Amino acid sequence: MNKLSSPGPDGFGPSFFTTFWDVVSPDIIAMFDSFYDGTIDLSRINRAFLVLLPKTDVALHPSLFRPNSLQNCVMKAITKVLTSRLQEAIHSMVDDDQTGFLPGRRISENIVYAADLLRCCHLRKAPTLVFKIDFRKAFDSVNWSSLIAKARGFDDRWCEWMNHILATGHTAILLNGVPGCWIRCRNGLHQGDPLSPYLFIIVANVLQRMIRLAWQDGSLAHPLSAEVPCPVLQVTILDGRSKSFWLDKWLPGEPLATRFPTLFSHSTRRHATVATVGGGGLDLQPRLTSAATDELRLVYCIIASYTLWAGCDLRTIDSPSTPRFCSREAYMALAPPRPHDASACISWRLRIPSKIRIFAYLADIDRLSTRANLFRKSCAPSDLCAACTSPDTGRHLFFDCCMAAVIWTRLDVPIPDEEFSVWDLPTPLPFGTDVWRICVAAILWAIWKSRNDLVFNGVIHTTGSTLRRVGDDLSLWRWRLRPPDRARLDEL
Ligand SMILES: [Zn+2]
Repeated sequence: MNKLSSPGPDGFGPSFFTTFWDVVSPDIIAMFDSFYDGTIDLSRINRAFLVLLPKTDVALHPSLFRPNSLQNCVMKAITKVLTSRLQEAIHSMVDDDQTGFLPGRRISENIVYAADLLRCCHLRKAPTLVFKIDFRKAFDSVNWSSLIAKARGFDDRWCEWMNHILATGHTAILLNGVPGCWIRCRNGLHQGDPLSPYLFIIVANVLQRMIRLAWQDGSLAHPLSAEVPCPVLQVTILDGRSKSFWLDKWLPGEPLATRFPTLFSHSTRRHATVATVGGGGLDLQPRLTSAATDELRLVYCIIASYTLWAGCDLRTIDSPSTPRFCSREAYMALAPPRPHDASACISWRLRIPSKIRIFAYLADIDRLSTRANLFRKSCAPSDLCAACTSPDTGRHLFFDCCMAAVIWTRLDVPIPDEEFSVWDLPTPLPFGTDVWRICVAAILWAIWKSRNDLVFNGVIHTTGSTLRRVGDDLSLWRWRLRPPDRARLDEL
């Protein structure tokens, strides 16, 4: 707990408890004892203020505020203790594919996995159904009965604790520092409560279980094959605490439950982790059939051949440079190699605003929303230029249309007849290449703005006003240039 975090409604923050621990500890311990026995009435302390923190300087819409829950510190201490117990078991409780909020796992792993899988499906033209759901607000609308039903694996005492904590929660909204009336919570989980993320993933895991069940009864199938390994993500077993001995693929090939079905049917701890079994916890029914005894011999060989190490199990990627999972390496492993794009390199190195860099790049490869491009995608009624009767292509707009042609003639820049890159236009003598390319970007941008003003607002710009815009933009961007380039630009 951060010592300086804000106190809850009772006004006592973490620093109070650490400073006066000698005085308050007997009372706190007594409180924990009565919580354990279920004799405490939490409704008096399970209270929180809800503060709305603006995300921007001028926040005028509810979505521009971030709700923050200020819980009473003693309540946080109780949930923190429960959380640290739950953390030990959570890995074996939720599915391997659940990566949010869990230490040692990252939510980006699933994004990488999904991208990886989709790419494979696309390449192999496998019929695929993608189901995308938004977890936004799901945190606030968790139904407690679903949580408790899911919590069947917990003992009764734990379920009572959860019920008690959830059912006694009260929140008051702080408005200009003044709390409103108390609202009894009936749904959702507290923001800022260390226990909430864990309860949330237990609920979210219900969906995962439903998908698994649908897979088992054959109504859902993997688009490729259940045997196809993910080419990018893999797991390296160290202490073996995050992997199920029987059900996970922690060894090459099938999970052990599939390889040794008879022995698995004799297991009394089907969800035991690799670590538990490695420590001698291969719990089996007392009497084994002869088939199970044969399988047991093989399983003992596997256990004996495997060494566990200190440290959390690693999610790794198949990359020679970084064995540890990292988004960049995963992207590099997934992204198909691209040919060198000279235009992109030139655009990206120019010392101009990023918006203009991207614009200039799109203009160079003719990907702007010109009428010709929109017409081709059936998004515009005609492909004709707003200023003349030629098709409104990038080439026409920036080089051949009346105003553009005048500008390039005035600068004495010959425009080639065949296809060309804007960065290859001949550099007029007084400009250096870099300064000239910045000028080209400014000219293209000014022509584009004048063209848009005509298309959308009916305003006609003259060559003079367009060139004035070029001058204005260059005088704004000159501060981005290196001193010699700036001096050169100033001379022009
Ligand atoms: Zn035109």
